[in-house]
Amino acid sequence: MAANLQQLLKKHGVDFLRAAVQQLVGRPAAAISDDQQYRQLLIDPAWQAAPMQMRLFSPEGLHWEEFCFALRPRIFNLTGGTVALAPKWQTAASELADQFGTAVDRGSAAAPSASSSAVLAAGEKAPARAAAVGIDLGTTYSVVAHLDAQGRPVSIPNANGDILTPSVVLFDRDGTVVGREAVLAAAIEPDKVADCVKRDMGAKHYRRPIGGELLPPEVISSYILRRLKDDAARKMGNVSKAVITVPAYFDEPRRRATMDAGRLAGLEVLDIINEPTAAAILYGYQEGFLDRSGKVAGDRPLRVLVYDLGGGTFDVTVVEMSNQSFKAVATDGDVQLGGKDWDEKLVEMAAEMLVLELGDDPRNDPEALQDLWLTSEAAKKTLSERPKATLFVNYQGRRHKVEVTRDEFEEATAPLVLRTRTTAEIVVMQAGLTWADIDRVVVVGGSTRMPMIRRMLEELAGRAIDLTVSADEAVAHGAALYADLLLQKQGIGSGHTQFAVTNINSHSLGVVGTDPVTGRQLNRIIIPKNSPLPVAAARRFKTSQPNQPSVKVTVVEGESELPDACIEVGICVIRDLPPRLPAGSPVEVGYSYGENGRLQVTASLVGHEARVTTEFVRDNSLSDDDLLLWAECLSAEAERGL
Ligand code: AMP
Repeated sequence: MAANLQQLLKKHGVDFLRAAVQQLVGRPAAAISDDQQYRQLLIDPAWQAAPMQMRLFSPEGLHWEEFCFALRPRIFNLTGGTVALAPKWQTAASELADQFGTAVDRGSAAAPSASSSAVLAAGEKAPARAAAVGIDLGTTYSVVAHLDAQGRPVSIPNANGDILTPSVVLFDRDGTVVGREAVLAAAIEPDKVADCVKRDMGAKHYRRPIGGELLPPEVISSYILRRLKDDAARKMGNVSKAVITVPAYFDEPRRRATMDAGRLAGLEVLDIINEPTAAAILYGYQEGFLDRSGKVAGDRPLRVLVYDLGGGTFDVTVVEMSNQSFKAVATDGDVQLGGKDWDEKLVEMAAEMLVLELGDDPRNDPEALQDLWLTSEAAKKTLSERPKATLFVNYQGRRHKVEVTRDEFEEATAPLVLRTRTTAEIVVMQAGLTWADIDRVVVVGGSTRMPMIRRMLEELAGRAIDLTVSADEAVAHGAALYADLLLQKQGIGSGHTQFAVTNINSHSLGVVGTDPVTGRQLNRIIIPKNSPLPVAAARRFKTSQPNQPSVKVTVVEGESELPDACIEVGICVIRDLPPRLPAGSPVEVGYSYGENGRLQVTASLVGHEARVTTEFVRDNSLSDDDLLLWAECLSAEAERGL
């Protein structure tokens, strides 16, 4: 598919032309009869007002000028020497758009194909030697890593020479910028900057408009991934394959969104892997357990608790390790808890001190607020090292100073620490273990540098925590090892890695049914949480009326009996039931989680040869059509080097 103006205008409508069109009304006829003036007054401003999905193409590629010139006689008339607008100008514009449906000639298009997840950005060639990277797509920072010639995982620095790339995107008039520059721009133009997008993965839109537009989180994340891909390509040559990590506690819609983001970035997503599992793989590699000769002491597997507190998400997982095998046994977490919440507490503390001093709240000023966030994150890091930190905030033309002590900070954030402590206790219990059975406590994620976290964990586990893996890089390094393992299965890996990984599902899978006694809607769990993956289960449903053409089943993830307290994964519609089917005919729906926690749904009519079709409709994710269109737009933009 190659996107064209017809398709884009069909999707977005022509209303964005309104302001440019109406500001011509009443002007002298020359305003539009003169080509140069018409360009300045309509063609250029209307393009600037076009939806982002359109502007990612070049105006030439979409024949924008041609369209606008063809539009001129159809929607304007010049009787009386001044410009007037035809009453049904939008209809005329839409009709004209239908003629601009010829494919844009830009060579092959990047688009996720239905049969494979492989996506090469237009013009890219497959690399001669297979190169795969591991990507830790973090809420606040991201890291990309690969295996060196000796099979050792190493991080790849970005163009600034940093290992950590801030997961922040600036949508500028001239293009997009990812990383440190975007963070700096956030202080000046916060409405053009998207951060913490990982928290919105699985939702329809990023939480607030960027430059006036609501963007899908997958699209914003794809910019971060493309930047990492390009940084890796500078070191390794072309990079097309990747393993991307996700929090173990990510539900299915968030997993799907992450894979889609990778595909939009022009990556073949070999797989997604849980962050704590990736960290455990790296730990096992460092301890020599990936090596054929590596032995785990004793006659039982080593039980490792991975506590992962990043910028925006939190996970605890117990992994059993034996020689070359990693088996997750229990996991829990919170996708809305991370370093950002500690920053927020400091923002609150500093702002309240300033309110007392100034009688005015700096949080009401967007620039001062952005400043508060930046200085708070820096102060938080200082408080990991020192008993006191100073925050500087620019507000009302003056630089204000606030001091916070570690004790005050720890007291204010104690409820956050307690939340992670409770989760860790639950996970150990769900694994059927006690703390005495846990052999190692491994910490990853930048936020585990906070002394309050280390203290709490040591107290809980009754042992020193293991600090041998890099809090920032362990996840990306584990993902790089896993990527190599997957390449090996395709016969193209480094030959260094050999291990097995068993994952579990982090949320129970259920279907919504009606309680026959009370008539209430209830979630009926069919695959319980912490089941080893892959796992499959089937459930029978009955048609309720004779001659019923279809059956609809709502699929949810969550532990509660109440559907509203769970996450809706999608609606499964079983169509094409044969005619004259009596009421009460059984339809069997099969659900299976792949090793990466992605869901497949199938259906069959019990006792019938007739084939039925199952459509799994997801409300909150990009439709396949939209995904194709975005893939087109983003690859057009990448080709233009924006
Ligand atoms: P990650 O997602 O693992 O890169 O973790 C990023 C989070 O770790 C951010 O919220 C950082 O502010 C936080 N972080 C990094 N270093 C420190 C530190 N020294 N003390 C406290 N938090 C830190």
